[in-house]
Amino acid sequence: MPWNRPLIIGLLVVLLAISWWRLLPDDQEIRRSQLLMGTVVEIVVGGESSDKLEAAVDAAVAEMTRLDQLLSRHHQKSDLSRLSRSDTGTEVNVETAEVITLGLDVAQRSGGAFDLTLGRLKVLWGFDRENPTVPDQVALTAALEGIGPTALSLQGQEVNKRSLQLQVDLGGIAKGYAVDRAIAVLKEHGVTSAAVNAGGDMYLLGLHSELQGRPERPWRIGIQHPRHKETLLETVQVSDRAVVTSGDYERFFEEDGVRYHHIFDPQTGLPARGCQSVTIIADSVALADALATAVFVLGPAAGLQLLTQYPTAEGLVVAADGTLHSSSGWTNYRVTP
Ligand code: ADP
Ligand code: MG
Repeated sequence: MPWNRPLIIGLLVVLLAISWWRLLPDDQEIRRSQLLMGTVVEIVVGGESSDKLEAAVDAAVAEMTRLDQLLSRHHQKSDLSRLSRSDTGTEVNVETAEVITLGLDVAQRSGGAFDLTLGRLKVLWGFDRENPTVPDQVALTAALEGIGPTALSLQGQEVNKRSLQLQVDLGGIAKGYAVDRAIAVLKEHGVTSAAVNAGGDMYLLGLHSELQGRPERPWRIGIQHPRHKETLLETVQVSDRAVVTSGDYERFFEEDGVRYHHIFDPQTGLPARGCQSVTIIADSVALADALATAVFVLGPAAGLQLLTQYPTAEGLVVAADGTLHSSSGWTNYRVTP
């Protein structure tokens, strides 16, 4: 076919359209996965300049790494390790104090269902070990001795603990707090569209477009069915919100046909039995993280009742018998098929 002018002009128009589309603002998307805080942290950011986005993600990862070093019991010099070694308490960094303050608030409002003082119990169950087993009753009773919402208190940055034996565990809240901080750092770097997911503790910032060039809309998040991995329970639509799920299906082992998972009822020291999974939407990930654990322990009825104390929090609960329960405002987020 001979080349003719209309064809060449047509081709030029197509090429120009493609390059213009490539240069649309918010055209860039950067994704990073990194092992942090014992889980895979996934960060997705969208914006105009990939260099700026890379720098923002670097800074967010650095912030999460710094927080891990403050809050993890696996670091000898962390605030948490120092607190565990101390007789009656110690001064901690401002971030650690903030996490503990929020944790103690949820502990108190949940009547102790959320408990920052389960450190010895957590070590006893040994979900971090290769072959965890069910502890005997004597050991369980000993691990629960002296724990509870009043066993720990805070004055400014000074943490006081009731006894030398008391071991603090921030496993139910620290990851959420770190995601909040990562989002704050991304915002400081001018990022307006981002998703940060630390093993089910997520924040969705701004809007995003699923495919390049498509209009922006709130993020859509699929909530996994706790018993059928491939099935979605629901899809929710959120912007500037935390979405956190706690389930009995991520970290568990089975003994004599019984499932043992890592969310404990502080009354018994055994895995809480009221729920299969709890998803919380709230304005902060730390709060949603703590509430997901608290509601899981309380079970659907008392759990949803607890949420009424938190105006920004909504929840979806899969009860132990598989029935679905949700708070009244949950429908605002539900994507109707
Ligand atoms: P995940 O770590 O899978 O996101 P959660 O946010 O529910 O799950 O946190 C579970 C962790 O919280 C446990 O590994 C333990 O460190 C801690 N934890 C377990 N039971 C409680 C509880 N009743 N109150 C506070 N923290 C808890
Ligand atoms: Mg939690």
